[in-house]
Amino acid sequence: MTKIEHKLYIDNVIRRVETARLRVSGHHIVKIVAVSKYSTSKDIESLYTIGQRAFGENKVQDLKAKSQELDEFPLEWHFIGNLQKNKINNLLDIDPTLFQALDSLDLAQELQKKLEAKDMTLDCLMQINSAKEESKHGFMPEDAKKAYLNIIEKCPNIKLRGVMSIGAHSEDTTIIKKSFETTYDIYKELPNATICSMGMSGDFELAIECGSNMVRLGSIMFNK
Ligand SMILES: *Cc1c(COP(=O)(O)O)cnc(C)c1O
Repeated sequence: MTKIEHKLYIDNVIRRVETARLRVSGHHIVKIVAVSKYSTSKDIESLYTIGQRAFGENKVQDLKAKSQELDEFPLEWHFIGNLQKNKINNLLDIDPTLFQALDSLDLAQELQKKLEAKDMTLDCLMQINSAKEESKHGFMPEDAKKAYLNIIEKCPNIKLRGVMSIGAHSEDTTIIKKSFETTYDIYKELPNATICSMGMSGDFELAIECGSNMVRLGSIMFNK
């Protein structure tokens, strides 16, 4: 694609996000995080030149490599993958804008210890396994609120900003919608939560209509 074709292509993705958010309300603002896990630093740079600022990675070593390579640009980095305890310090050294996948109390405790030792805080989202899928990480919907309050109380260096969820793995829109509604219902109940991160390339319009205000778009943003 030429640069102009690329811009037109991205404009069309943005238009789809706009149309979906306006169906909710003119006041409903949705942020796009471009998930760059299948893309190169060069791909990221070309999205940056047409205005994209927030990028997401799901492996600590990739986040490290790409954020270093693109150090000269004012980018926002989101970590959206499962975090192994032995990678916590590596993640904290990168100091990402938002860690979107806090998925257990165990991890929260370990993260709190490491944050305290480094005298830093980290903005985080709690991951919810809304469709209760074996293959996915995250808190079960029925445990989420209690765990969220528990983390606020016990882990002062973890700054919880809301929730993240991956839509149900299904061909049936009703089932996917239900998983988004489950997440949104939890989100509404949480104190001071401002981010409801749901929706990927295949289901972001539905997610936005269910209340998402942050979409994580990979393949569609990078035209893969
Ligand atoms: C890969 C990934 C995405 C983006 O997926 P696409 O379908 O390519 O848009 C979003 N969220 C998470 C947690 C991911 O791992």
